[in-house]
Amino acid sequence: MKSVQIFIYLFLLSLGSYAQDTMNTSQNFAIAIHGGAGTILKENFTEEKEKAYQNKLSEAINVAYEILEKGGSSIDAVEAAIKIMEDSPLFNAGKGAVFTNSGTNEMDASMMEGKTLNAGAVSGVRTIKNPISAARLVMEKSEHVMLSGKGADEFAKKNGLEIVDSSYFYDEKRYEHLQKIKESEKMQLDHDSDQGNNEQNKDYKYGTVGAVALDKNGNITAATSTGGMTNKKYGRIGDSPIIGAGTYANNNTCGVSCTGHGEYFIRKVVAYDVSALMEYKSMSLKEASDFVIHKKMKEFGGDGGLIAIDKDGNIAMPFNTSGMFRAYKKANGESLVKMFKD
Ligand code: ASP
Repeated sequence: MKSVQIFIYLFLLSLGSYAQDTMNTSQNFAIAIHGGAGTILKENFTEEKEKAYQNKLSEAINVAYEILEKGGSSIDAVEAAIKIMEDSPLFNAGKGAVFTNSGTNEMDASMMEGKTLNAGAVSGVRTIKNPISAARLVMEKSEHVMLSGKGADEFAKKNGLEIVDSSYFYDEKRYEHLQKIKESEKMQLDHDSDQGNNEQNKDYKYGTVGAVALDKNGNITAATSTGGMTNKKYGRIGDSPIIGAGTYANNNTCGVSCTGHGEYFIRKVVAYDVSALMEYKSMSLKEASDFVIHKKMKEFGGDGGLIAIDKDGNIAMPFNTSGMFRAYKKANGESLVKMFKD
């Protein structure tokens, strides 16, 4: 008799906690991704190339959407979306990462969860197939926020992430791009003009990838992954792995992932700035992100853009360059996949 009573008690208890879980979930979820901003003009794309980008962005957004729709976490959703883009040579992250001046690929990635403000990042890694998974690992399995270089590669290996030979990251086009940039640098010295640099800036594509998701539990996660900038030297690290600059998430405000000229994004602490404007100035997501990208960064000379989602599932994707690879999908089925300005 006693055991029957205990059974009924336990049954009612679990029913209660199930009901509470269900009450805490909402149907409001969303995913937004970017594949970098820069000189992205329709006239520079063949129809085939445009389709390839659109397909990859759609694939990434749909995989993440399915995870969220089934009640999965925003952490799983952003990691899945970014892994798809890292595995594609179309973007400057994972396979397809740009080359450093010395001909290596050195990648940076970060992730932040808005509920706990937990964060993880890796910088200058060379052998981790999916740097975003390493950033998640640092967030979830270490007491630190950022691991760098060899140590980060070692940590990922020790924890069972897929390790590849550095030749896996080789991409012919990216290598040619490095040679061109090196050539223009030489010209600059030869002719003592700054033409080389201007040309380079005019034609720059910041192919970093990023994702922000809001899940049914109201948890926001933001993540960013990149190869950095072509021809970088001396272990240069950009904004992408820096929490507050390239990536930020807070469930009370929003989640943000940036792309653009990293040095400017670090100096203006862009991702956190959007969140802070919402927190301290009560700006809406759109007001805050437009103000940061179109006014503050524009005046500062910082090229780039960002994607952001707030706690209510609103999405903003401002950029001050000619284009930005971007896509989103909301719980109500509304979606968008775009690369150019309009
Ligand atoms: N923000 C990245 C960096 O400076 C570049 C990019 O967005 O493509 O490393």
